Amino acid sequence: MVACPKIVLLFANSLSGGWGGLQGHGAISMDGGAHGPYLCAMMTSPVPHLATRTQALTRLQRFLPLAGRDYSARRNFDCPQQGHPHVSTLSPYIRHRLITEAEVLEAVLARHSLMAAEKFVQEVFWRSYWKGWLELRPSVWHDYRAGLDRALTDPALADRLARAEGAQTGIDCFDAWMAELTATGYLHNHARMWAASIWVFTLRLPWEAGADLFLRHLLDGDPASNTLSWRWVAGLQTPGKHYVATADNIARYTEGRFSPKALVTDPAPLSGPPPTAPRASKIAD
Ligand SMILES: Cc1cc2nc3c(=O)[nH]c(=O)nc-3n(C[C@H](O)[C@H](O)[C@H](O)COP(=O)(O)OP(=O)(O)OC[C@H]3O[C@@H](n4cnc5c(N)ncnc54)[C@H](O)[C@@H]3O)c2cc1C
Repeated sequence: MVACPKIVLLFANSLSGGWGGLQGHGAISMDGGAHGPYLCAMMTSPVPHLATRTQALTRLQRFLPLAGRDYSARRNFDCPQQGHPHVSTLSPYIRHRLITEAEVLEAVLARHSLMAAEKFVQEVFWRSYWKGWLELRPSVWHDYRAGLDRALTDPALADRLARAEGAQTGIDCFDAWMAELTATGYLHNHARMWAASIWVFTLRLPWEAGADLFLRHLLDGDPASNTLSWRWVAGLQTPGKHYVATADNIARYTEGRFSPKALVTDPAPLSGPPPTAPRASKIAD
């Protein structure tokens, strides 16, 4: 894989407001990581990739009217061509602490009742829940890293992994999400679920390599939310429960853009040892 320099790119076009451009006070670099060679070829010059707290606050203000009923009804629709209008796209800013969960929730609850904004509030709390869960079970992270080492050193997997990351599997929706991920550093939650499910159950690739790919490219790449969401899709996080992407669900929530034919429809969840018990956490006096 070719390491691509810091870039500003299609994300700036696809999400209204964009990531690049504003270089005001408090800007930080949000490099999406190593990007695929085909994408690097599209770039003529590397541009600093900056995001600011001002952008985060503007984005939050713009999203506020939608955080209640609209989010509840439409958050599952994946609409990259419209700039993902039904979700906040705040995750990179939250991840890099340009804005905090508390600030987001305070603003949302000043505008909506808890009942109206319940879905959005729940999603924000998932991030904190995952962080606490992994912090108490560090062995889950070490096991993930060991699995990743095995996957990346298995010569039999190299071509298939490169095709998946290079958006060349022939599964049109999956390839489109990989292209979006590597080009923009963002994927809608539903697209993350579908892509991870296809990765694990249809392409039969090791989940650890998929989680690694996400972590390298996502601007909001977060060890807890990412690793544990991949484990959940695969059926390892909630034993016996896994997430199977279906053509009907994809067609409905992409508003007919995709209707994949060749998905595995009834796979078994992956199996693995149950996570160790949480280690004791220190409680401050
Ligand atoms: C396979 C997979 C990998 C993921 N990897 C990451 C990751 O690396 N980093 C990350 O922040 N999220 C991850 N998520 C969770 C979720 O997809 C993103 O947080 C969400 O899509 C971010 O977009 P948004 O800001 O528009 O979300 P919104 O729907 O607007 O939600 C608002 C905020 O709530 C939090 N949030 C929403 N959904 C979730 C969720 N399911 N789990 C945890 N927090 C959530 C985020 O901080 C988000 O910014 C992953 C999900 C899956 C299925």
